[in-house]
Amino acid sequence: MADAPKPCDILIRNAYVVTVDDDRRIFPAGAVAITGRRIVAVGPEREVAAAFRAARVIDARGGVVHPGFVEGHYHASLHMSRGAIGDDPDNPALGHSRAGGGHGEDEPDIATYSKWFNLIDEEDEYTASLATAAELLRNGYTCFMEAGTVFEPDATAAACAAAGIRALVADPWLWDHTGIDQMAGEIARAPADTERCLAALGGQLGRNADPDALVRGYVCLYGCGTGSEELIKAGKAKADEAGVAFVQHQNFLTEDTAGDDARFGRHALCHLAELGVLGPNTTLVHMNVLRDDEVAAVASSGMSLVWHPGNYMFYALGKKAPARMHDLHARGVPVTFGTDAAKAWTFGDLPAIAYLVTREAGHYLSAEKVLEMVTRDGARAVGLQAEIGSLETGKRADLVIRAADRTDTAPFLDPVHEMMLVQRTHSVDTVLVDGRIVLRGGRLTRLDEAVVQDQARAWARRMVERIGLAPGGRWPLVT
Ligand SMILES: [Zn+2]
Repeated sequence: MADAPKPCDILIRNAYVVTVDDDRRIFPAGAVAITGRRIVAVGPEREVAAAFRAARVIDARGGVVHPGFVEGHYHASLHMSRGAIGDDPDNPALGHSRAGGGHGEDEPDIATYSKWFNLIDEEDEYTASLATAAELLRNGYTCFMEAGTVFEPDATAAACAAAGIRALVADPWLWDHTGIDQMAGEIARAPADTERCLAALGGQLGRNADPDALVRGYVCLYGCGTGSEELIKAGKAKADEAGVAFVQHQNFLTEDTAGDDARFGRHALCHLAELGVLGPNTTLVHMNVLRDDEVAAVASSGMSLVWHPGNYMFYALGKKAPARMHDLHARGVPVTFGTDAAKAWTFGDLPAIAYLVTREAGHYLSAEKVLEMVTRDGARAVGLQAEIGSLETGKRADLVIRAADRTDTAPFLDPVHEMMLVQRTHSVDTVLVDGRIVLRGGRLTRLDEAVVQDQARAWARRMVERIGLAPGGRWPLVT
């Protein structure tokens, strides 16, 4: 006679379970059992349902269940800049402008993004982080790494806790070298200064003393030519000591890459490898401009990459720097996606853009590969691969249940292909983070979305007025 069923908190049944585990197993008639914060069983429904007696049963109605997506790099305080800071490359507000903000012709030429950051306060960062968290959860993202540019990480942490999303925060704006990135001299509260940065380094790591902390700390430098060798080495050492990810922007555009090449006297990634700062806990963001010797250095280091294929296209980098991510992924380098700054995309757009960028270059990333990138590789890039990124017994119950009754969920002959390239995130129905239901029927359970939206809109309008931007599109408003 079989053992008596054990109690569990939640049983998700009638599910097409895509585990993304080491063997990439799929259970087309599957189930997931959850107790507390963790998965206690995943497998065929006939086995899991017989082994557990659940306090709550969720019928997935045949829909796909998959690990929550991981957003590898996002500047939360820029979330409301989409449509405010324009996307037209000929619009001076996108880059550097004297327009607005009370600056006259004699005023220094301050980048619009710098003005935005210089005006933000703690309450703004909470509002922006809450709107970011809401939008991430709506799109099936259960974890995100804030990109190290909120001045008050406590504000972002509080917003993420309120929304119920897993997050990682870092000490903000760590940079001590000017001359390559203009912003490094323009952020009033974060001067480029080695002593300031060394004193701040590791300030968020105390969060990790609680093994169940939903918001954890990591080590981030701004990067892209703004860190001295001393600061870069100190950052890596701090991350090693704490067992967390070491992250910075790197090789974004040909301009910053050339700047780093010039000061290092060789290709930047080769120099960073020589410095000993590329390793399994290193995650470099963007990496659009990679030369052959750099690809070799990256592949042999064990490090991870966060890539934004939308920015790669937006800045027309295909003409200058061939897409290398399919090659790196094929060599076993973890590559995930980072939505970076709001511009002409939102969470969940990048996997399909990556698929097309790769095709344009004459190569191929399958739907399964892009799903790996946004789950397993994402978990690895943020340093949480032991906890999230796949549906396995013992891992955190961070998962997504998809609707199965939409027009775009047919024919259901290759559900992973349909999900990643056709539905993208439109079929996200239910999201669990750390065993708690945070989205059900496409609606957030812990936040009033209308209130979050109203606050975010009001804040964005204030920012636009204070900077002197003139958004609102090109067509006449008839009132
Ligand atoms: Zn960034």
